[in-house]
Amino acid sequence: MVLVVTPEFSCRTNATNNEEAAAKAAAVDADTGAPTIFSCRTNATNNEEAAAKAAAVDADTGAPTIFDKIIAKEIPASIVYEDEKVLAFRDITPQAPVHVLVIPKLRDGLTQLGKAEPGHVEILGQLLHAAKLVAEKEGILDGFRVVINSGPSACQSVYHLHLHVLGGRQMKWPPG
Ligand code: AMP
Repeated sequence: MVLVVTPEFSCRTNATNNEEAAAKAAAVDADTGAPTIFSCRTNATNNEEAAAKAAAVDADTGAPTIFDKIIAKEIPASIVYEDEKVLAFRDITPQAPVHVLVIPKLRDGLTQLGKAEPGHVEILGQLLHAAKLVAEKEGILDGFRVVINSGPSACQSVYHLHLHVLGGRQMKWPPG
């Protein structure tokens, strides 16, 4: 499942899809809450892959994901916004001039949006509102995109729910 919230719709273009195999690989530990990053991106960096390997060490133990380590300030991140429940930081492999990830500080079973329960409604709303605050702070309120990759078919690579806030350039549609 892919959730895309975007203020623009007239930007259709051809999309390529060469990410399915990598996404299926990412599904292996999807339900374990394990820390995983898989290379769905054709332009994945060594940093991303190294972080993935480090995060995967405790894949089946329920140990902190790489995002938990960012929350705990165990690894550095460029923090854009923070409140009691939410943390937003710049993506290490930006896909747009502005590319910020918005995450719940408490994972609480939300390894992916597909695991959302009624009890998660409040935090889900807070995450969306935080995405708007990030867009405002980054000066992209005139046009930005919010993406949630949920599950292997959507090429999710980190199993701690996160919203991608993208902007600062003209977005295309479909997203691929
Ligand atoms: P997704 O593929 O939707 O699960 O997105 C995961 C995102 O996390 C990717 O866009 C990665 O570039 C990003 N990412 C992975 N590790 C880090 C990190 N240490 N700091 C910031 N972003 C990261």
